[in-house]
Amino acid sequence: MPDDLTVQAAPSSHPCALDGCPEAVLVQWQRRIDEDSTAAVYACGRHALTLDLAAQVHAATCGAPDPKLLPECGCTPETLPPPIEAPVLGTVTLPTGWTLPAPMEAL
Ligand SMILES: [Zn+2]
Ligand SMILES: [Zn+2]
Repeated sequence: MPDDLTVQAAPSSHPCALDGCPEAVLVQWQRRIDEDSTAAVYACGRHALTLDLAAQVHAATCGAPDPKLLPECGCTPETLPPPIEAPVLGTVTLPTGWTLPAPMEAL
């Protein structure tokens, strides 16, 4: 059985995408390569995009992590399809403020 796991390197084994930055990688995001594929871009905490930007797929020309642009990147990321939401059957709100799915027998 081939040891496929060895090719799936953990993000922490990548250097920050900014040339010469020695810091440990904390985040990654996707950059478009062509119509069908994207590549991961890794960055340390100091050279990270905002969380919202990091959740999106960036243009091939995206400049991140360019310190002149951070915490933005200068490109217009692709809009991801909205997450599929589970149907809400009903909720109950507890006195503590928690909103929980309603128990089946309560519907
Ligand atoms: Zn860095
Ligand atoms: Zn970008």
